[in-house]
Amino acid sequence: MKKIGSRTFMIFLMTLAFFAGLTYHTVNLMVHSQEWVTHPMNFHLPDHDELEYAGKILDRNGVVLAQSIDHRRVYHPEETVRKACVHVVGDNSVKIGTAVQTVRRSSLTHFDYSGNIVFGLGLPDVFKSGQEIVPRGTDIRLTIDSTLQTAALEALGDYKGAVVFYNYKTGEIVCMVSTPTYDPQNVPEDIETNPAYDGAYLNRAVSAAYPPGSTFKLVTAAAAISEAPGIENTEYECIGKDTVGEDTVSCFAVNGIPTAHGKITLKTALSQSCNLYFAKLALALGKDRMTYYAEKMGFNSSLEFDGISVKSSLYNVSDATENQLAWSGVGQYTVLETPINMAMISAAIANGGTPVMPYLIETIGGKQENTVTMAKPMMSKSAADLLYEMMDETVLYNYGKDTFCAELDVCAKTGTAEVGENIAHAWVTGFCKNEACPLAFAVIAEYGNNSFQAAVPVASKVLYCAAEQMKSGN
Ligand SMILES: [Zn+2]
Repeated sequence: MKKIGSRTFMIFLMTLAFFAGLTYHTVNLMVHSQEWVTHPMNFHLPDHDELEYAGKILDRNGVVLAQSIDHRRVYHPEETVRKACVHVVGDNSVKIGTAVQTVRRSSLTHFDYSGNIVFGLGLPDVFKSGQEIVPRGTDIRLTIDSTLQTAALEALGDYKGAVVFYNYKTGEIVCMVSTPTYDPQNVPEDIETNPAYDGAYLNRAVSAAYPPGSTFKLVTAAAAISEAPGIENTEYECIGKDTVGEDTVSCFAVNGIPTAHGKITLKTALSQSCNLYFAKLALALGKDRMTYYAEKMGFNSSLEFDGISVKSSLYNVSDATENQLAWSGVGQYTVLETPINMAMISAAIANGGTPVMPYLIETIGGKQENTVTMAKPMMSKSAADLLYEMMDETVLYNYGKDTFCAELDVCAKTGTAEVGENIAHAWVTGFCKNEACPLAFAVIAEYGNNSFQAAVPVASKVLYCAAEQMKSGN
């Protein structure tokens, strides 16, 4: 018998090894392919209908706000809840640029198989039982409370506007509502053409900036307290209307009639919302100092949380005349502020000068997504403490603690921002002194004209609801 040469033997062995390897990989592929394609390390669900297997979106109490059933995205069974949450949750499209279903779509459609799936090691139980595999993306739990969302939407009624409440100790946004809104389950056909839906894809709490009106007096006051310590002890006489720079500035009572506030201090100027006082203060502080403090308090800079880019609040007095600079100190001229920025200023005041960063996502796939993160300081502790006292006394002596939920002991500042002849946006911002419910908030009702009729009742309804939720342990 002819001896097989060692070279031929080597080729034989290599060929055998090749086929053995090929067979191994083929068998392996047949057995484990389902695991591989569904392995969290390397798989995103096909995007022909991106949300057909997407994970659930839940509110802070586990209420399901969105889920995928039989290849369809299904939202909460109640229309009001769907409408109240659409700007946070999103719809099937990606038109709400700041919604979780837009900014976290890849997380939601990321298949996170909950069975025993370790690459190459055994089969998940579901294979063994012969059940049909239904892939499901990763669940996201939010910090919002759908009960507060609904209360806010109902309280806003027909007003366009926004509501934002967040925990000034942890950063959790518990309520963020924007109007006009729509039902993501039945998107109106005329949403693009009907003026009633103008800006319906916009989450106004983070994507709209408005003239802040008198709420901006908090910024001017913080600047004055920091630049001129002891200013709170000096008196000023408001004569109702005066020349400031090249033109006049006037004070108005709630009903729009010009009013002289008489002898006032910084505290009474804030609680009675004296325009002349803060206009003259802005002029005395000058462009550089006013800009410096406005920027410390969030203006002219970007903010991002949970992948959401917040529209920038604007304070630009570079081309302002003296009178315009004066009006900027009462939140008029070209000053623009987002509701979330305003809530953060109130949070800073409640928190000794530094706000916590807000966030919306509690967990992704069961893992904690956010921790308590301090933002940059907005003001000194002494300025914050003084403003705290001033907002407290503003409610105590001017609005009445019963105006809000008395139990939560709310400190606040209202504002009406002129946007035309006898037309104004209505604002209120504030925080709960009761630390069992540490919420800071901002509410805007567009063209609401009167804060006490349009904005304060909205804040109040959400606060009463928050107090109830607090008692029920939510
Ligand atoms: Zn005045």
